[in-house]
Amino acid sequence: MDNAVKALIDRIANEASRGATQEKETMLLLLGLDPRSEETAHLIETARAFARQASGGRARLAGAIGIDLHSCQMNCKFCSFGEAWGLVKEESILTEDQVIAMARAYVEAGVNMVTLRSTEFYDLNTICSWLRDIREQVPGKYELNLNVGELTPEMAHACYEAGASSAYHVLRMREGIDTPFKPEIRVRTIQAIVDSPLKFNTCIEPIGIEHTDEEIADRMAFALSCHPDSVGIMPRVPVAGTPLGDIEMISRDRMRQMAAILRLAAGRNVKYITMHPDDELGLEAGTNGFSVERGAVPRDVEFSDGEWKGLTAKRAVEILRSAGYETELIDCDPRFRKDASWWRPHGATEAETPSIIGEDGVEYVRRDGQRIKMKVSGKQTVG
Ligand code: SF4
Repeated sequence: MDNAVKALIDRIANEASRGATQEKETMLLLLGLDPRSEETAHLIETARAFARQASGGRARLAGAIGIDLHSCQMNCKFCSFGEAWGLVKEESILTEDQVIAMARAYVEAGVNMVTLRSTEFYDLNTICSWLRDIREQVPGKYELNLNVGELTPEMAHACYEAGASSAYHVLRMREGIDTPFKPEIRVRTIQAIVDSPLKFNTCIEPIGIEHTDEEIADRMAFALSCHPDSVGIMPRVPVAGTPLGDIEMISRDRMRQMAAILRLAAGRNVKYITMHPDDELGLEAGTNGFSVERGAVPRDVEFSDGEWKGLTAKRAVEILRSAGYETELIDCDPRFRKDASWWRPHGATEAETPSIIGEDGVEYVRRDGQRIKMKVSGKQTVG
């Protein structure tokens, strides 16, 4: 093994444990390693050990509900929903009752983050009303995450008020080239999320063999600069019939290497590193998240009534346990009361909503109609 590379990896791990985030140049160096080399094996082993230490053995299990399977006029070159590719033969849209039933089944099976995912233009008001109803009808301590279209600052606030804990958004690989979106539009939505009380989840995706180390390092550095709660790694899954469907998928060795780089480069302040759809592979390289999916999946043209590819939430819990993780959030939405009930009764106005005592024994109160502030011995800090 090259001793200089080993020393670099050990130094990064040491810095990561103290909360440091690495620069793009460091990620570029690690991306330049041969994915099958001894050095990469050391990188992966180091990232796996660091993940246990940084997470305290806690993992996030996300259950995604793809609300709408229908053609999308944005025609991203990798997505099965693109209208121009004509792959979606039968449109399906979930009803609210179906969404609530799926959310309940997920939570009962151990999911601690339910994601509502839609195509770009699905009505956000409808989704917000569902968020309120899920909070009322599905008991349990779980986060609600949104993976929807573009958001303004006002929309991000409205989602939070309706019960969302976080939102997922991505500046994708070759945004503006393989997608019709101007990168600045995606960045504007990311900024709206980051500036709102929502937590920010993101991903480096969809990565293919066509992307250079420079492009990947650039996206990693951007994601980390936004102080996310989680960052994922996702390959471009070639869907036959899409413009990129004939380009082979990136190798599993390379995916593991990238997950390990991200885990160490992110430092301990990023709570979850994830890999999807081969989540189990990611666990070998330092991820501490897992996702299962139902409904519309952008890597497929069929609607999944049950969990996609048969991977159930129950099975995901078993896989996480055998990798040494419990499905427990590192820090949950502070709007849960001590008894795990949700803070605001359904239909209650802000004025009718009392302050709450969080699990940490701290009182959370409304102050400016925008944020929850935390009262600690007379001092107030933004929570
Ligand atoms: S990735 Fe999203 S925006 Fe692009 S075609 Fe698919 S659903 Fe539409």
